[in-house]
Amino acid sequence: MSQHQVSKESILDVLATILDIQELDMQMIQFMRLKKERENELGNINAIKKDLMHKKTVKESEILDLKTNMRLSEGELKEIQEKIKKLEQQQSSIKKVEEFNALSQEMAHADRDRNHKEQAISDLNDKLAIEEEMIKNIQESLDSTTESSRVLENEIFERLTKINVEGKQLLKQRENLVVKANPEVFSVYERLLKNKKDRVVVPIENRCCSGCHIALTAQDENLVRKAERIVFCEHCSRILYWVQSEEFEGTTVAPTRQRRRRKTTS
Ligand SMILES: [Zn+2]
Repeated sequence: MSQHQVSKESILDVLATILDIQELDMQMIQFMRLKKERENELGNINAIKKDLMHKKTVKESEILDLKTNMRLSEGELKEIQEKIKKLEQQQSSIKKVEEFNALSQEMAHADRDRNHKEQAISDLNDKLAIEEEMIKNIQESLDSTTESSRVLENEIFERLTKINVEGKQLLKQRENLVVKANPEVFSVYERLLKNKKDRVVVPIENRCCSGCHIALTAQDENLVRKAERIVFCEHCSRILYWVQSEEFEGTTVAPTRQRRRRKTTS
């Protein structure tokens, strides 16, 4: 078991202040967790909306392409139709059989072109109808998502604001305590907290470290009880304290789980 010598201050007083800070830090960790959860919820909603908006943009661009294709095809069809009209006019004024045949062939060719073009336009029309139906569905999803998320978003924002306000208050309380804390023990505490993100000043319960639940020896327990120096759990490095110590009675370190504020400050 490692030990830590602290100046003349009473170890119990030193630990009592650190324990008060620890309770604030546990609340802060809880706040951060809640905040992260709310932010994730908000992130999910926004991701769904962003995805729908992206799909809508893609569809819009596809529809634009289809419409452009359609316009071009219609222009081409018009040209073919004009060509056919011209060929028909020529046909009536032709005298020679060979020329007539050549023209007929050209007309048959143009007819085929016209059929192809008409088919292509019809296909484009079908495609456009499908795409427009799809974009309509996307828009409906987007509308309903936006509508249903508005309430939730407001709720989350409200909670986040509340968490931020309460977090600020916690920080202020903490600052006031840190000034009173033994700097050496406080820096050890902060290092441990950073590593464990959990309570690092813990009572001995049933001869076990209540942080890691590993049994301690009677000698370890005695050292903690004597409270002459800071004692660390040799298994998890947490700072140990003894809850039955008389000096802890009526303080935040009282044996019950419901810790009260300290009555006196030194
Ligand atoms: Zn331990």
